Amino acid sequence: MRSKKRVAVVGGGVVGLTCAYRISDDHSVCVIGERIGPESDSWKATAVWHVYLVPETEEVLSWAQRSLGMFYELAQDSSKTGVELVQGVELFRRGSPQVPTWSHIPRLFEMLTPEQVATYNPAVVDGLPSDDMAMLARHPVRWGYRIEAPAARMDRYLSWLEESVRNKHVEVSRQRLAALSELESEFDLIINCSGFGARELVPDRDCVPYKGQYFVLKRADGSPSVYIGDDDHPGGMAYMIPRFDEVMVGGCAEQGKEDLQLTLDWTDTIRRAGLFVPWLRDRSQSDQSRPPVVGIRPCRTKGVRLESDYSLARIPVIHNYGHGGSGFSLSWGCAEAVQALIRAI
Ligand SMILES: Cc1cc2nc3c(=O)[nH]c(=O)nc-3n(C[C@H](O)[C@H](O)[C@H](O)COP(=O)(O)OP(=O)(O)OC[C@H]3O[C@@H](n4cnc5c(N)ncnc54)[C@H](O)[C@@H]3O)c2cc1C
Repeated sequence: MRSKKRVAVVGGGVVGLTCAYRISDDHSVCVIGERIGPESDSWKATAVWHVYLVPETEEVLSWAQRSLGMFYELAQDSSKTGVELVQGVELFRRGSPQVPTWSHIPRLFEMLTPEQVATYNPAVVDGLPSDDMAMLARHPVRWGYRIEAPAARMDRYLSWLEESVRNKHVEVSRQRLAALSELESEFDLIINCSGFGARELVPDRDCVPYKGQYFVLKRADGSPSVYIGDDDHPGGMAYMIPRFDEVMVGGCAEQGKEDLQLTLDWTDTIRRAGLFVPWLRDRSQSDQSRPPVVGIRPCRTKGVRLESDYSLARIPVIHNYGHGGSGFSLSWGCAEAVQALIRAI
């Protein structure tokens, strides 16, 4: 019989809570974090399942696949879990068509045909100045794909996760740690899910921030139902993601930036993201349903750190941080990998 351990999960974001959920059947678990659940930075994720800003290794793809399976289940009860399935189109203006390494994972994935791609290169768009049209003509959409993927309204999903772990008798403690070794006398094992906080807590100099920003509108009559990503838009990254009762419009991925100042310009963003969505071009700044979101994707130059470490405290530490732009998407697969590492200790 496996022995029950006293486990401290450091971090109450999507990664830590998911880990706590997975391991709490076998162990006595306490989640320790400065900010827990919907208060953690995870609430800022647009939270569409994808593999983004993490190296696409076999391991990462297997975590993404395991997570996707779980999200399909959670989406069956979307009003409770805050997870639903959305359809989207991702467009690319650089390089030649490239089937993504993870294309076999979602239930629906189709490369766009040349005819479909052509529909994203219109000669005229109502309301767009001719200078903009000339710039777009110099950088046409070259390829793209259609996908169905799970997406979460993170405030609801994190609340559901937090409530679920509490129902599984996981203790939750709000506190800031200066070092993981503070926990060595009370626990047998630490799971370090401190996100970008790992930069100081471990400390780990490979942690790199990638700032992201977006506006949030209320869904209304005529609003789109399919999301569109246009990362290579010559004016800067552009996306429009409808999920549940909101439409998120962004965005950016600024390497090395960790300030939380809003620098995204409303008019520019709407013009870029609204290129294929007349409804969006008709919105005004007062149509925003809540304040703009500015967050940090917790990236790491060496990719996700998921491994045991015996050097930081008198008890073992299992690291699970550095999920970049994919923390939601990898969370369940990583929690299973942590479970396997605990068995090996
Ligand atoms: C704009 C934006 C869009 C995104 N879109 C997507 C997307 O579409 N899909 C996707 O999969 N991902 C997306 N992401 C990325 C995703 O949000 C992150 O990868 C994920 O939230 C990381 O979760 P985490 O639990 O590791 O970190 P966090 O949510 O930051 O949690 C870290 C936890 O550790 C605690 N902590 C840290 N340091 C200490 C300390 N010293 N003492 C005590 N506690 C500490 C914190 O309080 C918190 O509880 C997006 C991110 C941004 C900013």
